[in-house]
Amino acid sequence: MSAQKQNRQIHLVSRPQGSVQESNFRLVEAAVPAAPEGGVLVRNHYLSLDPYMRGRMNETKSYAAPQPLNSVMVGGTVGEVVESRSSELKVGDFVAGMGGWQLYAAGPAVEWRKVDPRLPLSVYLGAVGMPGVTAWVGLLDIGEPKPGETVVVSSAAGAVGSVVGQLAKIRGCRAVGVAGGAEKCRYVVEELGFDACVDYKAPDVYGRLEAATPNGIDVYFENVGGELFDMVLRRLNAFARIPLCGWISGYDTGQQYAVRNVPALLISRAKLQGFIVSEHQSRWAPALAELGSEVAKGRIKYRESIAEGLENAPKAFIGMLHGRNFGKQLVKLV
Ligand code: NDP
Repeated sequence: MSAQKQNRQIHLVSRPQGSVQESNFRLVEAAVPAAPEGGVLVRNHYLSLDPYMRGRMNETKSYAAPQPLNSVMVGGTVGEVVESRSSELKVGDFVAGMGGWQLYAAGPAVEWRKVDPRLPLSVYLGAVGMPGVTAWVGLLDIGEPKPGETVVVSSAAGAVGSVVGQLAKIRGCRAVGVAGGAEKCRYVVEELGFDACVDYKAPDVYGRLEAATPNGIDVYFENVGGELFDMVLRRLNAFARIPLCGWISGYDTGQQYAVRNVPALLISRAKLQGFIVSEHQSRWAPALAELGSEVAKGRIKYRESIAEGLENAPKAFIGMLHGRNFGKQLVKLV
């Protein structure tokens, strides 16, 4: 049955020299694979576009292997099982996994996580998926927020940042976002319930940060890096915690901002810890349980930017790296 259908894939065909271009990708037609023994064939419904993909497009050493050339771009998807040779998953089940930038993905059943279709499927790539777990692990395990403390998060309107601030509010903290533009900041405060949001594209960013954090900063959840990092360091309280989640300001250009105010880490006796969410496997189940329940209750809200059609994935990906997404960036594939 599946042999009559056509798979479509996006391959990486060249490595970016400077900023990523649409010409680094190619749309390829391929046969639909069969479900392997003990595995499934999944029709992907949504593809997740994530900043980490930009790092993998480079040849350079990182915590993950580079994306190989002339093969399907790596990526998280959510979809429906359309063929099964596994006792774990049956046709019609909805699953999330690393299905890649393609319409159909085949693989072992253990590589797919069954999801509850009572929530919209796309949420399993956002607030109740990898970005949500990233927020949960970074804020709760590394940030260790206590009621009454001030939590600041950058890229606050984005997939990870929006969950960080809402979890901070649920834990009784003052939540302050930093985001690009008045519209994103308005959303962060009025829709997501943060206490304040600093527009880093407006003048006098430090003055705005100071006004938004009258009691200093106890937890800084870093998604972005650059000059903002130095500004935050100036406002750290004693024994502040900094979960270092991302540094997107340097991903696409490769130009790295040289941090100046390093002594502030010593003066405030701060803890700074980088982390990669895939290395915290034991925390996924409790994180997903809380996130799923809070989303179902409407206590964690989310927003999505959805591109239509696989062929538009490269353009949407580049747009996300430049802040043109508003909430979780997805591609709708059906
Ligand atoms: P977002 O949904 O936040 O989208 C990316 C956003 O980054 C853009 O919308 C834009 O928001 C902001 N941005 C882009 N360029 C710049 C810049 N030069 N300066 C400031 N902001 C910029 O993405 P995610 O929530 O998926 O990811 C957020 C961060 O979390 C990334 O750094 C990512 O690498 C990291 N991450 C880390 C993980 C880990 O395991 N450590 C796992 C998942 C994500 P704006 O318009 O506000 O500028």
